[in-house]
Amino acid sequence: MLEKQNRIALISVDGDPAIEIGQEEAGGQNVYVRQVGLALAQQGWKVDMFTRRSSKEQAAIVQHNANCRTIRLPAGAPEFIGRDELFSYLPEYVKAFQAFQQQHGFRYSLVHTNYWLSAWVGMRLKQLQPLSQIHTYHSLGAVKYRNIDEIPAIATKRLAVEKACLETAERIVATSPQEQEHMRSLVSTTGQIDIIPCGTDIDRFGAIEREAARQQLGIAANEKVVLYVGRFDKRKGIETLVRSVARLHAAGRTNLKLIIGGGSQPGRCDGRERDRIEGIVGELGLDTITVFPGRLDDRILPVYYAAANVSVVPSHYEPFGLVAIEAMASRIPVVASDVGGLQFTVVPEETGLLAPAKDDVAFAQAIDRILADSSWARKLGERGRQRVENHFSWQGVAIELGHLYTTLNSATVETSRAIAA
Ligand code: UDP
Repeated sequence: MLEKQNRIALISVDGDPAIEIGQEEAGGQNVYVRQVGLALAQQGWKVDMFTRRSSKEQAAIVQHNANCRTIRLPAGAPEFIGRDELFSYLPEYVKAFQAFQQQHGFRYSLVHTNYWLSAWVGMRLKQLQPLSQIHTYHSLGAVKYRNIDEIPAIATKRLAVEKACLETAERIVATSPQEQEHMRSLVSTTGQIDIIPCGTDIDRFGAIEREAARQQLGIAANEKVVLYVGRFDKRKGIETLVRSVARLHAAGRTNLKLIIGGGSQPGRCDGRERDRIEGIVGELGLDTITVFPGRLDDRILPVYYAAANVSVVPSHYEPFGLVAIEAMASRIPVVASDVGGLQFTVVPEETGLLAPAKDDVAFAQAIDRILADSSWARKLGERGRQRVENHFSWQGVAIELGHLYTTLNSATVETSRAIAA
């Protein structure tokens, strides 16, 4: 049966858009798929977000609203399987996707795949039915592997899939000019790339005053709050932040408060990273000024941003970095690593400061400049808010994606007609 013209499948095998965000393997990609899906649905698209069932308790379908749902298909046992182990289950996933289409009597003509595992799924589906594939990488193996010590066994496969996808997908979505440059210089010189950034919820962030937020969190007016939000992962560079705060502490800056927000589970990768970070906090004598509030849910996250003096994103590598624009939407200056998408979102001296990744001396200096001048900090925050309103709302992102889908959809329908004729 001919697929509905405005139907789109967002495929994110490993990043479930309907689960809790902010812990192991659940971060920006999950937020992206969910928010893009919801915003597209508001604009009239029928959106099906496909992911993998990773526990027996999970519903097979989560209906977010009349036009947007998450569909969980099987691939391996319904339990947590790390990204690096998922690849061998993907043929089963493709079969389940086909069975779903069969059962519902339509085929998707557009799929927007997310991360390299789903890129493979999209490429395989293209061999089985006429469709256009749009792909967002979220992370590039070619960049990631330059920044880590242990290269996993799956690396060769991943790099090959990422190259094939760039060369064959109807369109690649780079979320920043920096990511596009990495694709061109490190992955392939062929393939069609559009730059469409990630977005953020401009109504949810920036609606609370600092004083009210601090009252709610029990933070005194004279405390200087340095905030980290994100997963516990070595690539996130939390150690750099802790060491930079230790420098400020040792240099005599008073009333410092370091908040490290993010979920973790004991015994898992993120639990081990949290233990390591807590160890460093202890060694450097920062216990009394550091708090670990755990995973920050949707309701409380805007309150933490609002309460902060500065938000720090010390990643070693960051394809986009949602946290930076969430902080900016909350009128909080950002100190971020001078890498990847952070070079695009954070405008140095305008909305925050950039420092070389892993350089705790430079981070300490940048944080100190912001803490030392509250009126300048306020200006940085206001300009950050303006920048997000102008460039990074989910509605704006979804409009751009919608245009892209419409163009490609017409092309696919034309091709299917020609094949059928
Ligand atoms: N996040 C959250 N609660 C937490 C920690 C993180 O909601 O406790 C969210 C954060 O607000 C952001 C996302 O997880 O929306 C992380 O995205 P980012 O692009 O910064 O990093 P990634 O996780 O993709 O590496």
